[in-house]
Amino acid sequence: MGNRSRGAANTARGRRPLRVCKVCRTKFDNQVNPQQIVCSPKCGIAYVRQAKEKEWRKEKKRRLEKIKTRSEYLAETQKAFNAYIRFRDAGQGCISCGNKAAVQYHAGHYRTVKAVSALRFDEDNVHMQCSQCNCHDSGNICEYRIRLRRKIGDWRLERIENDRRTLNCTKEEVIEIRDFYRA
Ligand SMILES: [Zn+2]
Ligand SMILES: [Zn+2]
Repeated sequence: MGNRSRGAANTARGRRPLRVCKVCRTKFDNQVNPQQIVCSPKCGIAYVRQAKEKEWRKEKKRRLEKIKTRSEYLAETQKAFNAYIRFRDAGQGCISCGNKAAVQYHAGHYRTVKAVSALRFDEDNVHMQCSQCNCHDSGNICEYRIRLRRKIGDWRLERIENDRRTLNCTKEEVIEIRDFYRA
């Protein structure tokens, strides 16, 4: 009885608990190499491949996050800028039709963001516009030009009409513009 229990204790002490393979989950003995985490070379190859895939998924997520963040900042900056335009032009009426009693006013771009992205946050290019002109009459652009010319003059109108640049600013600069207009 005494011998048997001593023998069992020896066995328990002498043998490490079996390890579970990181890939196929079968138990294996890693007594020879305690660092071993997979049961076979085949599982070893699979483990490296999985690790690479995991790393790539992380990298992809990181890159997507970066893109998303810049466009999110652009949207926030547009919101702050548009609020400033409506504040600046309050009481002046719609730049296209002159309506001073519209239910809703927007900040309307003379040259669209799609056409000239560099003028996206240009104060000469964006003016208060009634929602009817902004959303339903394609910006009512001919009327827009007449009042815009009266408002900013030939020289400044010419500047924005000849602009062909694309918006070329970093995320940090976008944040700066946003904070400027928020203030
Ligand atoms: Zn395995
Ligand atoms: Zn209007």
